[in-house]
Amino acid sequence: PSAVSIIHQVSRTPNSITLSWSQPDQPNGLILDYELQYYEKNLAEWNSSVVRSQTNTAVIRGLKPGAIYVFQVRARTVAGFGRFGGKMYFQTMTEEEYKSSIHEKLPLIIGSAAAGVVFIIAIAVFIIVCNRRSSERPESEYTDKLQHYTSGHMSPGMKIYIDPFTYEDPNEAVREFAKEIDISCVKIEQVIGAGEFGEVCSGNLRQPGKREILVAIKTLKAGYTERQRRDFLSEASIMGQFDHPNIIHLEGVVTKSSPVMIITEFMENGSLDSFLRQNDGQFTVIQLVGMLRGIAAGMKYLCDMNYVHRDLAARNILVNSNLVCKVSDFGLSRFLEDDTSDPTYTSALGGKIPIRWTAPEAIQYRKFTSSSDGWSYGIVMWEVMSYGERPYWDMSNQDVINAIEQDYRLPPPMDCPSALHQLMLDCWQKDRNNRPKFSQIVSTLDKMIRNPNSLKAMTPLSSSVHLPLLDRSTPDFSSFSTVDEWLDAIKMGQYKENFANEDFASFDVVSQMTMDDILRVGVTLAGHQKKILNSVQSMRAQMNQITSVEV
Ligand code: AMP
Repeated sequence: PSAVSIIHQVSRTPNSITLSWSQPDQPNGLILDYELQYYEKNLAEWNSSVVRSQTNTAVIRGLKPGAIYVFQVRARTVAGFGRFGGKMYFQTMTEEEYKSSIHEKLPLIIGSAAAGVVFIIAIAVFIIVCNRRSSERPESEYTDKLQHYTSGHMSPGMKIYIDPFTYEDPNEAVREFAKEIDISCVKIEQVIGAGEFGEVCSGNLRQPGKREILVAIKTLKAGYTERQRRDFLSEASIMGQFDHPNIIHLEGVVTKSSPVMIITEFMENGSLDSFLRQNDGQFTVIQLVGMLRGIAAGMKYLCDMNYVHRDLAARNILVNSNLVCKVSDFGLSRFLEDDTSDPTYTSALGGKIPIRWTAPEAIQYRKFTSSSDGWSYGIVMWEVMSYGERPYWDMSNQDVINAIEQDYRLPPPMDCPSALHQLMLDCWQKDRNNRPKFSQIVSTLDKMIRNPNSLKAMTPLSSSVHLPLLDRSTPDFSSFSTVDEWLDAIKMGQYKENFANEDFASFDVVSQMTMDDILRVGVTLAGHQKKILNSVQSMRAQMNQITSVEV
C-alpha cells in the first residue's frame, strides 16, 4: 500500500490522544490493519512504541500531560507493510487545560444529560403506543417482509437475504434491490465473455454527480421469454442485497430500454480459475492465501445473511487488478433442468448439481447449507493452490461420488503447505457439523498470514499433482506396534505370513514398498493391491509429516 499521508487529531486528554487517518491513495489490496508508531518528541526515535489497529482510528493512552508526541502510520496488506507517511506532531493537554475545559463544559454536560433523559422518556412512550397499535391491527404485507430481516436466531435489525422468488411479482424485487440506470449513462466498449443469457461486455458508467467508472455489463439477448427475463434479473435482485468488499458489487440495472442489462463493478482479471491457469506458479503462498482469505470473508458475509451460494467454485470468483477476489454468480438458472448447455452441472433429482464441488449430503438428498458451501470452499482452496487444476482431474462424476463415499479425498497440490491441506480436509469432513464455519476459516487464514512460518511445512509427497486420492479411511500407522496389527486394521490380515516371509516386517521397509513388492509378496487381487498400495502411501505421508514437523 502507498503511504498514509494525513493524520487527524480527533480528541485529547492529559494522558491520551485519539487519532484518525485516511486510507492510502493506492491500497493495492485489502488493508489488513494499520501500524501506528509514536514517541515523545524530546526522546530519541528508538524509544518509539507501536500500536496496531484494524480500523483507521486509534486511541493512544498512557501519555504524559502537556507533552508533544511524534506519530507515523503505515498500512499492511497481504503483501506486507507500506511506507510510513510523514511525521505528525500532536500534544496532550496539560492538567490546567483539562480542568478549565471541564469547567467550561459543565453547563453543557448538565444540559445534555437533562435533554437525554427527556429524549429517552419520549422514545419509550412512542414505542409503547406503537406496540399497542400494531397488536390491534392485522399484519400487513409490509411487516411480513420486514420479518425477513429480523427473523430466526438473528438479532433485531440484522439484515438477512430475501429470496426474490418469494415476491409475487419478481419485478418488485428488482425495483426494491436494484437501481434503475438510464441507458444514456452507459457506454459499452467490448465483449469480454459469454454469460448464461447473453454477452458480457466491459464499458463505462457515468452517472450524474459521480465520476466515471469501469463496469461489466451483462446483457439479455433478444427474443427472450418473460421467464428468462425474470431469471436473468433475479441475479441483480440477489446481488443488490449485498454490500461487502469480497462480494461483486451491483451498480444497477437497465430494464426500461433494450437490451436489458445488469451492470456491476469491473473485475480486470476476470474469473479466478482462468486467471490462475494463465499465471501458473507466479504467486507467493502468502498471495494465494490472501486470495483465499478474501473469498472466505465474502462467504462469511453471505452466511451471516443466511444466503447459501450452492455453486462456490473458482470459476465463480472474480479477481480485480489488486488481486482482490470477490464472490459472484448469484444466478439460479444454471441449476434449472431445461438448460443443457453446461456439462459441469449434472442433472439430479430436482435440479442440476456441479458434482465435483458439492458436498455429499447435497448430492444425495439436496441438503444445501452454509456447511455444504464450506465443502465447496475446500475445493476452491484446492483449485487455488493447484493454480486452476480440475478437481479430481479426469475422473468421471460417478467415480468422484464413489471415491468420496469411501473416504478418499484430494491430496495436497504441488508445493501446498500442510496447514492449508489440513484446512481443506477439515472442510471435507463427512459430518457437516464438524466442518469449520467461515468465521473460523477467516481467522485460521489470518493467523497463517500473520505467522508465515506456519506455511513452511510441506507434505513431502506433494511433488506430483497426479497423486492418487488420499485414503482417509486408512488408520494412523503410528497407533500400531507391528506390521501384522497394521495389516489387520486395513483388513488385509490374510497377507501377514506373505509379508513376514518376504521380510516386510518393519514400518520402515513396508513404507517403501512399490507395486512390484506388493506383487512379490503374492497379492494377486487387484482390489487388494490397490488397498495395500494406498495404505503404504498414506503411511509414507504420515511418516514424512512426522519427520518434517520434527525437523
Ligand atoms: P457469468 O455469466 O457471470 O459467469 O460471466 C461470464 C464471464 O464474463 C465470466 O467468466 C467473466 O470472464 C466475465 N465477467 C463477468 N462479470 C465480470 C465482471 N464483473 N468483471 C469482469 N469480467 C466479468
